[in-house]
Amino acid sequence: MPRSIHAILKEIYGYDSFRPFQEEIIQASLSARDVVAILPTGAGKSICYQVPALARDGLTLVISPLIALMKDQVDSLVANGVAATFLNSSLDAEEARLRISGLEQGIYKLLYAAPERVMNGGFIDDLRRWGVQAVAVDEAHCVSEWGHDFRPEYRQLAKLREQLPGVPFLALTATATHRVREDLVTQLGLRQPEIFIASFNRPNLTYTILPKAKPVRQVFDFVSARPGEAGIIYLQSRKGTEEMAAALAAEGIPARAYHAGLEPQVRSENQEAFLRDRARVICATVAFGMGIDKPDVRYVIHADLPKNMESYYQETGRAGRDGLPSDCVLLFSKGDFVRNLRFLEEMTDPEAAAIARRQMGQMIDFAESNQCRRRELLGYFGEKWPGDNCGSCDICLSPRETFDASLEAKKFLSCLFRIREKSRFDLGMNHVTEVLTGANTEKIRKWQHDSLSTYGIGKDIPRDDWREIGGQLVRLGYAQISEDTYQTVSLTDAGRAFLRSSEPLLLTRPPRRPEPSSTGKLARSGEIPCDEGLFQRLRELRKRLADERNVPPFVVFGDKTLRYLALRYPLTAAEFLGIPGVGNQKMADFGEVFLAEIAAWLKDHERLSFSEPEPAAPAPPKPMKSEGGVNATAMETVRLFQEGNGIPRIAALRSLTEGTVCSHLAQAVTHGMLDLNPRDFYTEEEEQRIAEAVAGTETGLDQLGPIHQALGGKITYEKLHLYRAFAKRVSRAAEGS
Ligand code: ADP
Ligand code: ZN
Repeated sequence: MPRSIHAILKEIYGYDSFRPFQEEIIQASLSARDVVAILPTGAGKSICYQVPALARDGLTLVISPLIALMKDQVDSLVANGVAATFLNSSLDAEEARLRISGLEQGIYKLLYAAPERVMNGGFIDDLRRWGVQAVAVDEAHCVSEWGHDFRPEYRQLAKLREQLPGVPFLALTATATHRVREDLVTQLGLRQPEIFIASFNRPNLTYTILPKAKPVRQVFDFVSARPGEAGIIYLQSRKGTEEMAAALAAEGIPARAYHAGLEPQVRSENQEAFLRDRARVICATVAFGMGIDKPDVRYVIHADLPKNMESYYQETGRAGRDGLPSDCVLLFSKGDFVRNLRFLEEMTDPEAAAIARRQMGQMIDFAESNQCRRRELLGYFGEKWPGDNCGSCDICLSPRETFDASLEAKKFLSCLFRIREKSRFDLGMNHVTEVLTGANTEKIRKWQHDSLSTYGIGKDIPRDDWREIGGQLVRLGYAQISEDTYQTVSLTDAGRAFLRSSEPLLLTRPPRRPEPSSTGKLARSGEIPCDEGLFQRLRELRKRLADERNVPPFVVFGDKTLRYLALRYPLTAAEFLGIPGVGNQKMADFGEVFLAEIAAWLKDHERLSFSEPEPAAPAPPKPMKSEGGVNATAMETVRLFQEGNGIPRIAALRSLTEGTVCSHLAQAVTHGMLDLNPRDFYTEEEEQRIAEAVAGTETGLDQLGPIHQALGGKITYEKLHLYRAFAKRVSRAAEGS
């Protein structure tokens, strides 16, 4: 018997309300349409296909690319009391046979499998016999060769789409690039899908870029300031990951390395140690990625320069999936760029090298920019960040002042002039700052740069600041950096003119760099204040319970749930059930132990009081949803509609289906942005018939599928969508009055 989707959310997952887009996606899928859901990491995609699977009869097949991912997902579902299973090569014959016999008996609601399995001869017949009612394609960007993790097997799924014509498909991805998004619809052969695109902003992530000086030291300082928190350190080379892990381990921090060159057994043991909270830190190459679904990664540090903006977004995106505040730190050095340029020179395909070089250039521009990191990052993916100050990037958190730098600029530029005059060649930024600050290096002695008139004239300013000033002068065009691998700095004509002029020059003051360790003390959005002592104690309990069950700790409870426990100190079953993330099954399995632990804690500790965080406050303005729940693509439709364009014309203009255009209008109607007349969409007689059908179905307006059926398929889904939007608008208005 179908249950309401809200009841499922509460009873199974322990959540009170849906996150943005979840409900719309679930409803679209339940109305038997193909759906594409493009939501950033941490937005809650799993619920988008799991809730419909539980709301409908029969089996839902979930295509998932990685064995490790499948197991964690299934463990989490089972912990919530859901009949889910997976089939893959990790199972022995006996185990696989048991599961298949369960499928024959129809005891499972969800089956996870990899695409190669699905396309094996005979499997589609099995699926039909097992009563498959829906297919979810997770990590759907894997179908696109433009994406970062293309899997050729995903291409086969178009055949599955063809062979299961009556079964709706739901494709999900966190991919941010337009090209991949478009490719995905075509490659999977989806039928007039309804497409939902959320903002890609990750409100709980704080972005910081620091000059890279002594990376091991910097990483160590950062990590040791966050006891108990898990993080990923990305490095470029395999050797780098091992050295970093060894250096951290030598200081007593449980750290492991992860790269493609490790023995498979060592690699999976290291990954497992990280997932199970035995290792706090994983030092990894980019090979460590998609398989990692750990929700409580509190920071991602790039100790080397990411390949491009997309990689940076993806890799930093692995922090804070659970929505709690997390840090993304990039240790930036132009030297990394030079090193990468050398790799590029070895590339045989000149076109690929040119693309890689351009993308790296964009990465450098991003790192060197003085603009809000969030705005720049989202802007790269074509999304506009509306506010001035995002409140959670290094630039916005410590806005930089400008200062009169005329004197400093003259010192720097004349130093370039003198070096050239003396040696007849230019040198790198490092050397210039060494001359300015009067360093005693071998090169300075060799070239007698200690005899220059500019030697030591900048002693009062730290070398890092000189480097920053030099960088700004380059950006202003007073100096330039050579394109070759030597990256020498030279004076330009504009620079020469400036040296002769008496014009004042304003520069941005070099940041008073916060110690990396202090960044954690900045205000972080989405923070849940709680009794930290109790929180630690509950974490230990969670780890014990998880180890006993041989699952990762987050399968028992997420950090968010533990923080709410340590904030509200529940003492009764009813109070415990009110905690986010506690569904009926977890209440039954873990309620008693956790309640006992909290009661025991309160015997020897005072009960502290905290103010509850704002309910579901996903932080500052949400760009693509600027108008209360309507995304940017829908806004565009609304704009065209308001300009007087009809639905078919908008569909043609925007290359969308009429169904999608209607769903955009429906969104706008529901959120009270558009005042439309239902008569423009359906007749009074049709309205009457729909109302009767709604009254006659058990799920009411929650699911359009049954209504559509009750009407004998005579009224289109587009009309039903709009009907629902109008009905919701009316009931909302009634509530409000
Ligand atoms: P994604 O796959 O999009 O990265 P997940 O499905 O892993 O995201 O969900 C991220 C986290 O958000 C999980 O801990 C999940 O339980 C939680 N979550 C999802 N939906 C909701 C909701 N409606 N209310 C509260 N938490 C939710
Ligand atoms: Zn910012």
